[in-house]
Amino acid sequence: MKIFAEYGEAYRIEMLAPDNWHNHFRQKDDPRFRPTVAYIASQFARANAMGNTVPPITTAEQIVQYRRDIEEAATEAGFPNFEPLMVLMMTPDTTPEMVTSAFNAGAYGLKIMPANVTTHSSHGIVDYKAKLFRDCLRVARSQRKPALFHAEVVDPSISVQDREQLFIPILSDIREEFPNLPICVEHISDADMVQFVMNADSYVSATVTPHHMEVVEADAQHDVHLQCMPYPKQMKDVEAVRFAAFTHPRFFYGSDNAPHLRPTKEREHPSPASGVFTAPVELSVLVELFERYRQLEKLEAFLSERGARWHGVRQNKGEVTLHREPWVVPDVIDLGDGNEIVPYKHGHTLNWRLADCLRLGQPT
Ligand SMILES: [Zn+2]
Repeated sequence: MKIFAEYGEAYRIEMLAPDNWHNHFRQKDDPRFRPTVAYIASQFARANAMGNTVPPITTAEQIVQYRRDIEEAATEAGFPNFEPLMVLMMTPDTTPEMVTSAFNAGAYGLKIMPANVTTHSSHGIVDYKAKLFRDCLRVARSQRKPALFHAEVVDPSISVQDREQLFIPILSDIREEFPNLPICVEHISDADMVQFVMNADSYVSATVTPHHMEVVEADAQHDVHLQCMPYPKQMKDVEAVRFAAFTHPRFFYGSDNAPHLRPTKEREHPSPASGVFTAPVELSVLVELFERYRQLEKLEAFLSERGARWHGVRQNKGEVTLHREPWVVPDVIDLGDGNEIVPYKHGHTLNWRLADCLRLGQPT
């Protein structure tokens, strides 16, 4: 990583092309799909394609097709070297054979989310002790593939503030039976969970979103476009997540970018869709955040190194360059046909801009 500075202020950054280990593209034929692929592929050499789509990605055939759709859209947008990272969405009906075929088709992990926790999760897991579910984890463990957990309990009587920390006993129980199963706690948000991951051995990691490093509960209550699951927490949690992102080798980037059309976020009933549309601003926001806390030299590890190392894959070869050039994030992004999305940091001025996305992901 090279940081060019003048009079103590950085003005240009060059770093290894980054990875995004948690992301939602939506599906071909959805108006959100192509713009999202273009935004993500312009910033990342690789990005995860979460499988809780409609319908969910639950078979090897769907993985192959979905990857092809994303690659086509990325190529069309000018990023033919972009690499989608595929996962199998686990349902109560997923069998060990389906898991094996998914890995053979190139899936790198299993997406595990509780039923009905957030967008498109009605097919999720209900019983973490179910034999079929545990048999699937056994396959993942034997093939050294990670289980990627949306780590929240979903009981509606439990406050959103407590749902992640109350998942710790479920993870501990799974760890007891499968100590060598790689586990990633997705979009970590709670100080107790941060402690759990830090205290665990090298088999346990976490992804961190931009918003869970900054947004507190009160912000989200103020702006529906900041509402997401896990729900933003308190300042002590945000500080714990941020500290882990700055310093810890098993915490790496996954934005949980989730495009929702404006009416589904702004409606009163039923409850608004959960998720933050970070895709247009991800690298700009991260540089700004790391710079504000004087951690800029840690950004490359967080974005481009730790995730690849934990997952045991090669690091990217390309580079990405950002330069200091203030720009205003639009209030709304128009997808055409009357479809609009409100992006993260809408209306804010950001200080950093992507300078040269074309080198990104190109083999050297
Ligand atoms: Zn997600």
